[in-house]
Amino acid sequence: MTAAIDKVYADVIRRNPGEHEFHQAVHEVLTSLEPVLAKDPHYADNALLERLVEPERQIIFRVPWVDDAGNVQVNRGFRVEFNSALGPYKGGLRFHPSVNAGIIKFLGFEQIFKNALTNQGIGGGKGGSDFDPHGRSDAEIMRFCQSFMTELSRHIGPNVDVPAGDIGVGGREIGYLFGQYKRLRNSYDAGVLTGKGLAWGGSLVRTEATGYGTVLFAQSMLATRGQSMEGQRVVVSGAGNVAIYAIEKAQALGAKVVTFSDSSGYVVDEAGVDLELLKQVKEVERGRVADYVKRRPSAQLVTGGSIWDVTCSVALPCATQNELNGDAAVRLLRNGCGVVAEGANMPSTPEAVEHFQAAGILYAPGKAANAGGVATSALEMEQNASRSRWDFATAEAKLTGIMADIHHSCLEAADTYGRPGDYVLGANAAGFVRVADVMNAFGII
Ligand code: NDP
Repeated sequence: MTAAIDKVYADVIRRNPGEHEFHQAVHEVLTSLEPVLAKDPHYADNALLERLVEPERQIIFRVPWVDDAGNVQVNRGFRVEFNSALGPYKGGLRFHPSVNAGIIKFLGFEQIFKNALTNQGIGGGKGGSDFDPHGRSDAEIMRFCQSFMTELSRHIGPNVDVPAGDIGVGGREIGYLFGQYKRLRNSYDAGVLTGKGLAWGGSLVRTEATGYGTVLFAQSMLATRGQSMEGQRVVVSGAGNVAIYAIEKAQALGAKVVTFSDSSGYVVDEAGVDLELLKQVKEVERGRVADYVKRRPSAQLVTGGSIWDVTCSVALPCATQNELNGDAAVRLLRNGCGVVAEGANMPSTPEAVEHFQAAGILYAPGKAANAGGVATSALEMEQNASRSRWDFATAEAKLTGIMADIHHSCLEAADTYGRPGDYVLGANAAGFVRVADVMNAFGII
């Protein structure tokens, strides 16, 4: 890294001790900015980089709630409002026991560039809690969400900060969160949250958007080499919102998807994933992947191994950060994988990314490939503001157009800065330039 970038990074490590995922996300972006700063050194003026890596605001709060046994539980809530140069802070809420300040900051930081890439006027933020929804009753989830929103409601609003879902936060949780917000404010501000139900301000295609968008991005990448998703053998990790709709779109485009996973193991189904059964197990019954295998003779459950050992031509990591390390990348490449598109945020470690890039395969980072989710959230905000409701085809056509634009922006920026086909550089540089130009227009704030 150049001396200026080195110093910014050293300060991030010093001021945010122990926040490894945040350090990792900042390092990836700053490294990509070297050719940008070499071409346009003014982007380092006025401590722009120093301001970019410091959140505008970080809120940490107590979330007390009562479980079904009458015990008082105490969790920690977070909202990091990272950058509002382009619009209201926008980014999901994650409920998972691993959540801490560093994870929320890495996600919020990534979100700045992802949201800029969508070109829709949304800033970057992220939030969540170390609450673990697994095994909790519906009533416990509701009480937790109500307590969480009681504090969060002071800090958000349709023009201020607009959260959505992420790991552990889907339609049910958004319902409880929105209900409590509406009650506290005595105002039907539909635009305060996205991922809402269709009957109360939600947008068609929002549920599908992240997974669909990831596959559309992979399809665009393949097209640069005269290929398509048709006939590809696909490995998908995760079995949540992103994974399920990535599988749906990949199958619709003629690919064969042979895996999915959760934290209890992964499933290989050589007959191709039965999506209706997977949806029944995960979306309706909220079960484990083993429940799928029990009802599907062609499927096999593997516990304790690595899903990336399964041979594929396209890999779509859709579970969580750092789920695909350097060794796994080497095995994927050895088995003939030629495309990796990230549905999850930062699922590949830096070592894995190095292997993918050295091998010259098509590799897209999450901030580009999974931007369809937040892009469709912005479409939901647009419908809420205009009190309109688009049909599925209209919303999907807009998502398709946005993903194509993001793909184009990445390639264009990669060309501009001298590394054609480098989607990491392209995504970071294109997102950065949009945010940096507006930050400069606003002066030193
Ligand atoms: P869900 O909660 O719906 O699903 C997450 C899935 O990943 C579950 O199958 C879960 O298994 C698995 N998983 C989570 N953590 C781990 C872990 N530590 N080890 C193994 N498996 C794990 O979340 P989403 O599908 O919404 O999110 C998945 C990823 O996509 C995240 O990285 C998220 O940030 C990213 N993303 C999501 C967007 C969205 O619109 N929802 C938008 C853009 C990115 P289990 O249930 O056993 O924990």
